Amino acid sequence: MKSIAVFCASSIRSKEIYKEAAYNCGKALAKKNIRLVYGGASVGLMGALADGALEAGGDVIGVLPHFLDRREIAHKKIEMIRVKSMHERKLKMHELSDACLTLPGGFGTMEEFFEMLTWAQLGLHEKPNAILNVNGFYDSLINQFDVMVMEGLLKEKHRDILLIDNNIDALIDKVLNYKAPEVKEWLKKKRL
Ligand code: AMP
Repeated sequence: MKSIAVFCASSIRSKEIYKEAAYNCGKALAKKNIRLVYGGASVGLMGALADGALEAGGDVIGVLPHFLDRREIAHKKIEMIRVKSMHERKLKMHELSDACLTLPGGFGTMEEFFEMLTWAQLGLHEKPNAILNVNGFYDSLINQFDVMVMEGLLKEKHRDILLIDNNIDALIDKVLNYKAPEVKEWLKKKRL
């Protein structure tokens, strides 16, 4: 495992506990020699994440659309790839990484998280998808996944693709040991 894409909030109004979790996530990846791929912002949890990785001597690569340059305030100390659109950003982050990890965030984070998860569900890639449930932030979302399974709208084997932990080191270990479920042959041909 060489690189992990991390999705998280750009908001600057986050509680300290989430900023700390983002910072520690960056640090934990760097310590395991895993390159961080993220959205390239210097603000919010995204900024804390990159700072944690940089301060622990890690490699960081940002993927930022030109039009978000001012809003998300591009991080100055990282290698940056500029793209034209949000679609391009997501695809580039996917191409550059071997797994994705989601920290607390808002709609943008959820959009990125679900896109990667549904691509995995379709068998378009076999990369692990992980969620850091720090401070129970995602309890209700995880509960909703159980509701989806109970109501017959989500297959249990698809719900089980998702790796969850509240501890970053334990979560990274789960990512490193992940084995993708078997998918149908015709789906394999469509891989991204
Ligand atoms: P948020 O969780 O809303 O703070 O957003 C986190 C990050 O997701 C920010 O860098 C947003 O620019 C980004 N984002 C929002 N929507 C999308 C999208 N459709 N594709 C890729 N990134 C997105």
